[in-house]
Amino acid sequence: MIKGLFPIDKFKRLRTPFYYYDCDVIRNTIQEIKHWSSFSNYHIHYAVKANANERILACLANYGFGADCVSGGEIEASINAGFKSSEIVFAGVGKADWEIELALKNDISCFNVESLPELAVINNLACKHNKIASIALRINPDVDAHTHSYITTGLKENKFGFNLSKIDEAVDLIKKSSNIKLIGLHFHIGSQITDLTVFQHLCIRINDIQDSLEKQGIGVEHINVGGGLGINYQHPNHIPIADFEGYFKVFGSYLNLRPNQQLHFELGRSIVAQCGSLITKVLYVKQGEVKQFAIVDAGMTDLIRPALYNAYHHIENISSDGSIEEYEVVGPICESSDVFGKSVALNHTERGDLLAIRSTGAYGETMASRYNLRQLPSSFFSDEI
Ligand SMILES: *Cc1c(COP(=O)(O)O)cnc(C)c1O
Repeated sequence: MIKGLFPIDKFKRLRTPFYYYDCDVIRNTIQEIKHWSSFSNYHIHYAVKANANERILACLANYGFGADCVSGGEIEASINAGFKSSEIVFAGVGKADWEIELALKNDISCFNVESLPELAVINNLACKHNKIASIALRINPDVDAHTHSYITTGLKENKFGFNLSKIDEAVDLIKKSSNIKLIGLHFHIGSQITDLTVFQHLCIRINDIQDSLEKQGIGVEHINVGGGLGINYQHPNHIPIADFEGYFKVFGSYLNLRPNQQLHFELGRSIVAQCGSLITKVLYVKQGEVKQFAIVDAGMTDLIRPALYNAYHHIENISSDGSIEEYEVVGPICESSDVFGKSVALNHTERGDLLAIRSTGAYGETMASRYNLRQLPSSFFSDEI
């Protein structure tokens, strides 16, 4: 147990499970990002899907970030939270007509387009609404992100973006389309990337692509390098902030931007993951044949990452400073994958203790479901309780 990190007395009055967001961690993270990206041509769009909690959205809008949305619902939530529509971009392989129309009506800044049929549909709908849609081509650069296969998006076998061999065809179609305007190139190769050489490879690939497009007389206003910067799930207390210095420096060193070209980033996880913890109560400690289980009141419906990606989250007993023992921390859902951690070292644990499942600010609350007809988890911020 780390003393002082959590307002445990206040927690006792709250119904578990809930997400707890530490405002100091959010603020420090944002300051670090601002510090290392303080160039006038760098723009950060927060990837809303990482955490669409209203207060988080409002906070990030307030700090001047744009929004990277992947659905009509996210576009609406972003506008409601205070993001300017001129700083909203819209990505996704399967944009429905109503979502495209919603984006057109709100004059968002850019559609990140992922296929030829999508180009045609956006052109038709823009024509119908008398608009010119600004678009970026999402290009699949075939760079391996060396991360979990479910969150690798930039290989040629993935469903995302245009493969390199399709770019010419896309450019031809854009030239023939009256209501779309090519303003950018977009790349997003995966998530939870901690090996920064992956981003170097991305830069080098982008340089090649820009060179070859330029030979055809095509230049764009912006390059969007997506998101994907990873965080340290093992040591949230010691390394609470991602390596933004290293990350932004890679692009400064390796990417050949043209004069006046803007550089867009779409960070999600690295902005919000470390500020969040899922707080859950131990319902029972059950002695099995070979191990002991801490059965908690949060389940995969509140946090699906361990079940979905086999993801690791650091877990602490914040009620106990007893001797360390090993537990399998499991939820109440009727699925064998409803496990938060195997062989977790916890201070001696009893019924009623509170556990903090750390680094759950990204892809936690947003992925919650009502499977088993459970209630959605609530959320509290450190400055409100
Ligand atoms: C999910 C996503 C992001 C954010 O990824 P993180 O790993 O959370 O930084 C950025 N851009 C696109 C297109 C995405 O789908």
